[in-house]
Amino acid sequence: MHTSALPATGDLAARARAALDRCGVDRIPEPSDGAGAARTPLTGQDLFPIGFDTPASAERAVASAHDAFTAVWRDTPAPVRGTLVRRLGELLREHKEDLAELVTVEAGKIRSEALGEVQEMIDVCEFAVGLSRQLYGRTMPSERPGHRLMETWHPLGVVGVITAFNFPVAVWSWNTCIALVCGDTVVWKPSELTSLTALACHGLLMRAAADTGAPADVHRLVLGGSEVGGVLVEDPRVALLSATGSTAMGRAVAPRVAERMGRCLLELGGNNAAVVTPSADLDLVVRACVFAAAGTAGQRCTTLRRLIVHEDVAERVAERVTAAYGQLRERVGDPFDEDNLVGPLIGERAFAAMASALDRARADGGEVLAGGARRLAEEAKEAYYVEPAVVRMPAQTEVVREETFAPILYLLTYRDLDEAVELHNGVPQGLSSSIFTRDQAEAERFLSSAGSDCGIVNVNIGTSGAEIGGAFGGEKDTGGGRESGSDSWKAYMRRATNTVNYGGELPLAQGVRFL
Ligand code: NAD
Repeated sequence: MHTSALPATGDLAARARAALDRCGVDRIPEPSDGAGAARTPLTGQDLFPIGFDTPASAERAVASAHDAFTAVWRDTPAPVRGTLVRRLGELLREHKEDLAELVTVEAGKIRSEALGEVQEMIDVCEFAVGLSRQLYGRTMPSERPGHRLMETWHPLGVVGVITAFNFPVAVWSWNTCIALVCGDTVVWKPSELTSLTALACHGLLMRAAADTGAPADVHRLVLGGSEVGGVLVEDPRVALLSATGSTAMGRAVAPRVAERMGRCLLELGGNNAAVVTPSADLDLVVRACVFAAAGTAGQRCTTLRRLIVHEDVAERVAERVTAAYGQLRERVGDPFDEDNLVGPLIGERAFAAMASALDRARADGGEVLAGGARRLAEEAKEAYYVEPAVVRMPAQTEVVREETFAPILYLLTYRDLDEAVELHNGVPQGLSSSIFTRDQAEAERFLSSAGSDCGIVNVNIGTSGAEIGGAFGGEKDTGGGRESGSDSWKAYMRRATNTVNYGGELPLAQGVRFL
């Protein structure tokens, strides 16, 4: 069995400070009114105290971002705005290791996933720089002679970005890089669990702003919890609130933004499933599903939580997945150790939720085929390392229909594709989905309007690990937002429809006569 000692909290604090230094963050906010702390799930202990914002200081951040929007940024040509993001991309390349280090310290991701998350930021920068020359509006044929009908896209205002702990840097970049080239300014409230990572991102963006002559207030960082986030929810100067997190958070913020007629872009919880058909390549299934279900210790919004397997192959799939999980249990531990594949859960609440879900699943007749045990409790009493679990369920019971943000994979069986699709769609969430099949008709059916009801629908790959080029997001309780690639940028701009009369007459539309 592979074992490695966990790093000491003091060493992790020193590593985090050194990474921040290299990113150019020379000042960590001191605790004053809003006392907070940086923490690591690797040992479950505080690294050092830091200052959180207060609602008053968050309000000042919104005011200054709003001033930068009206005074400078909205009138800066989009390709010039793109140079800021290009410079950010260069700095991210230079500091890829440093940011990944902070992601591992604060979010507990294994090294290759942390590096992958930073790579995603670099990719988004490239996408956004190209986009800065492609914010196209259409020209439509006018029904009137001597008239031109067209649409133009204008910057929206301040974008409030609230992010979750599990993608502490990528989700920020999806929003911020696109918003900045669209001419918006940004106020970012990261998860209170990943403040250091946020300080590093903000520091690099401020360096990029200084290098390119952009106003520093194009981006403001406010640290703290839901009280500080609440300022972004309530302030009418925040034109768009882009909020990523649990469905409970979305339910709390969306009505308050709607009340003030603001716009919301919600990226909330998922309960993602893969359908495994009789023709599926089971080698692919096992590799894809084990990564999708156990990667990031089951703490991705796109984590595979349900495997819906045709009864003809159910036994073989259960055996192979269970065997793969048997190997995984040897590779749970320090995420800095490159032999490990599963780092810690974010904290005690996540562990309690996992234990309770497993109890409920057993009470519903579920059979735990592998995993579920806590690890390294002796070495680190406040850290929560767990063996990813596989549970065979007799039915899609209530606990299976919920998102438990931990590595539990439920196995369900089906007889025909209609039943599989019904099970698949029979949950409140609608983020990511997959089908494994070599039958083209089955694949097309799953991709069709009568198939998966998710925002992401894949064939022969897992549910997690989306590329930035596509629009990312989901339906139903996942909130309906789309971010990152394709035409997601439109959510960050306002559309004006323009009719220009270049003729001497004044014909009215629809043939109306007046005067
Ligand atoms: P969370 O809901 O606890 O917190 C998310 C963010 O919202 C944090 O910054 C938090 O401080 C803030 N927040 C919470 N309540 C708030 C309120 N009332 N007003 C203002 N701000 C508030 O989520 P988490 O535990 O950090 O992340 C895990 C959850 O996020 C999971 O449900 C996961 O599926 C979801 N998630 C979704 C996506 C996606 O793109 N769909 C991506 C990542 C995570």
